[in-house]
Amino acid sequence: MTGNPIRSPIWHPFTQHKLEPAFKKIVATDGAYLIDEDGRSILDAISSWWVVTHRHRHPAITNAIQLAAERFDQVIFAEYTHDPAEELARGLIDLTPPGLAHVFYSDSGSTSVEVALKMALGFFHNNGAPRSRVVVMQHGYHGDTIGTMSAGERGVFNAAYAPLLFDVDTIPFPEPGHEQETLDALEQFCRSGDVAALVIEPLVLGAGGMKIYPAQLLVEFQRITRRFGTLFVADEVMTAWGRTGTLLACDQCDLSPDILCLSKGITGGALPLAVTLCTAEIFDAHLSEERRRTFFHSSSYTANPIACAAAVANLDVWRAEPVEERVRAVAAMHRDRLVRLQSNPRFRNVRQQGTIAALDLAGSSDGYLSEVGPRLRAFFRQRGILIRPLGNVIYLMPPYCVTEEDLDLAYDAIEEAADFVGNTV
Ligand code: PMP
Repeated sequence: MTGNPIRSPIWHPFTQHKLEPAFKKIVATDGAYLIDEDGRSILDAISSWWVVTHRHRHPAITNAIQLAAERFDQVIFAEYTHDPAEELARGLIDLTPPGLAHVFYSDSGSTSVEVALKMALGFFHNNGAPRSRVVVMQHGYHGDTIGTMSAGERGVFNAAYAPLLFDVDTIPFPEPGHEQETLDALEQFCRSGDVAALVIEPLVLGAGGMKIYPAQLLVEFQRITRRFGTLFVADEVMTAWGRTGTLLACDQCDLSPDILCLSKGITGGALPLAVTLCTAEIFDAHLSEERRRTFFHSSSYTANPIACAAAVANLDVWRAEPVEERVRAVAAMHRDRLVRLQSNPRFRNVRQQGTIAALDLAGSSDGYLSEVGPRLRAFFRQRGILIRPLGNVIYLMPPYCVTEEDLDLAYDAIEEAADFVGNTV
């Protein structure tokens, strides 16, 4: 069925309402599942846009939210502070790579990257040696605000807004065998002395098509940025909280970013929250008796105490429960099943990084508007599985409570979907 009868005033994100069927209501969530209004369980194989890490409604996180809601609602975050934010900031500094000393709160992945861009430019500006350029990676995605769209891949997503986007320097994605070209491009851009920051998704470019590159390259990137005084901004909005096999993608190599962006799984997926961590040098560049050197950024819901309490509970879950073991178990389940797909001619580039598995559908056009995307989505929906291919890239990024049986369902559906789409092109 096409032509959504407009029964709701809601304008949904990334949705062409003219082409979508009427949306089912979700009435509850449980573990790896969404429950719809007909009582049907839908396997959330993409963790509701990559936010849910352990499971939907982890009891310890739900409980922390309930307790915090009895004491707090929003509290202004200038002039005052509160325990949930203080405790979370200290916990995050303990968990993240050395050198990150300050935590700035915001409320989405996009704002965490906007803040990073402003911190980087502000650092050089306040130090009296302004820099104006930002280097990003081809196929990168950092959000949907004007600043983060500017830092992301240009294309159908942002063509209409191109006149407002600022210019960035783009290094090529390091395709196997072409890594040196990426390193050379980075070095060449940084050599200008005008590059404030390299803004990059470590290990996996998510929305750009689950493109994976080796951790060793991150070390090389950092070597180059350090040489030229360029700040290294790690956008771990998607890759953090176990997705790539370790707590942070940065943990897979000796990487200490100058700025680190976290959101999504920071509350285990329960509430919106984001942080941008930075080094003491960046904070200190804004520390002054001159008020004009203040870091001028805020949003109304900065450091919402209930969201911070959820994140504190999430850190406790990471400390108290065998989360890394679960992450390894999910990774192993993917590995076993991907072997089978590797020999299936319907798929190309079968790949995995930790709990993320991805493959390209052979014989279909690339790009987000690939005609197979909506047909695949409809097929999966009918099967009771939430999978949203990125064009012809099918991927799974389940919550860590996912079982062997759940993943069997998902992988069987992927194989059948490929046959279905392949046979009806
Ligand atoms: N950075 C990365 C790497 C992301 O994957 C995303 C969201 N998918 C964002 C930033 C933006 O996050 P949000 O949608 O919460 O604004």
